[in-house]
Amino acid sequence: MRKSIVTLAVTATVGFGTIFGGTSVRTEAASISSLKGEQNKIQEQRSDINSTINQKSNQITDLQNQQADVKDEITRLDKAIADSTNKINETTAKLESTKAEILELQGEMEVIKDRIEKRNILLKDRARSYQETGGVVNYLDVLMGSTSFSDFVGRANAVVTIMQADQAILKEHEADKQALETKQKQVQANLASIQKMVADLQTLKQQLNVQKADKDKLLASLKDQENDAHEGLMDLQEQDALLAAQQTAIQQAIKMEQEAQAKAAAEAARAAKAAAEAAKRQAASSHSSSSSSTSSSSSSGYVSSGSTPGVSSGYWTQPAAGYLSSGFGARGSERHVGVDIANPTAVPIVAAADGVVIRSYLSSSYGNCIFVSHSINGQVYTTVYAHMSTRLVGSGAVVKKGQQIGVMGNTGDSTGQHLHFELHKGPWTQDKRFAINPVGIVPLP
Ligand SMILES: [Zn+2]
Repeated sequence: MRKSIVTLAVTATVGFGTIFGGTSVRTEAASISSLKGEQNKIQEQRSDINSTINQKSNQITDLQNQQADVKDEITRLDKAIADSTNKINETTAKLESTKAEILELQGEMEVIKDRIEKRNILLKDRARSYQETGGVVNYLDVLMGSTSFSDFVGRANAVVTIMQADQAILKEHEADKQALETKQKQVQANLASIQKMVADLQTLKQQLNVQKADKDKLLASLKDQENDAHEGLMDLQEQDALLAAQQTAIQQAIKMEQEAQAKAAAEAARAAKAAAEAAKRQAASSHSSSSSSTSSSSSSGYVSSGSTPGVSSGYWTQPAAGYLSSGFGARGSERHVGVDIANPTAVPIVAAADGVVIRSYLSSSYGNCIFVSHSINGQVYTTVYAHMSTRLVGSGAVVKKGQQIGVMGNTGDSTGQHLHFELHKGPWTQDKRFAINPVGIVPLP
């Protein structure tokens, strides 16, 4: 970055050399080299600003990449949360069906227990009477009722079979009961594991939600940082644009200076030639006709002719007719970096010196305002004319000292018709660090 700027500055210098070089301009006037020095200083500032702009751009790209990563993670978390929600729903359904199964098993158990109990009572009764009668009487009644021997044998077998059947049924019931109990235990164990699973899933979901909330917060902060960086970038680009305009103005100033020097050199040559011819003529015809031809009797000092202040001799002239309503410096808590010239009449505003308009626009604070860049003996000055009702020149216009550039007004952050006039020894910057008090430099009311 820096290397390319240096190359650019060198190219620019070579460029001037080529354009204005040649016969006599090798001996460059001090004012021009000083202007070129200013040009280089501005170029340095611009390269600083541009490297900051690059840094900011990289920062923005970095922030955007980080945001993309966080968004990916949020998507992943969203999916995990949806998965765990589904699993919770499934497992909860399983939990409910297991609970229903347990209830059903409990019902079956009740039925079996009831059956066993009834059968037990029956068998106990039968066993009691069997014991009471020595185990014969009741069955004996059955046997005694037999009509024949074969009937008797049949009945005796039947009694044994009944007794065995009773025992078998009881055993079967017991087996059923055992099986049911085993199953119940299994289902209970199942229920416990399902309950633990649901609890685990809920914990997981909670953790995922916490992670997602963190990522959301991170994303919001990255977005804020990116917005800040964008704003910073805008400021820097504005500053760079102003510096670029100033460079153009100085280039213009260099050109004007060189033209003026060429003109002066040509005039000097012509004057020398005329003097030589006059001397020759005087020698030929010895008339004495010397006349002073110093005609530089242009208005020195200015005459205020009502609406427009007269144009002063010297580099500077008064920018508007009126009275000084506010001076330079502290004004209450704020710092007034210019002077205010007020006039109840909408008087013309004129350029305070020869220069180039670097900015002409409507600002929310300055209102209709014009920035003019001047180069005076190699020193760059910038003047600002604010709160005008009308602007008459645009950016890039070359203006002469005393030339009307607008009309006094009350636009922007202004209370009452006046001209807010700033003088900067150097370029205008956001912090106005080059602003100086124009008193003693620029003629004022
Ligand atoms: Zn002011």
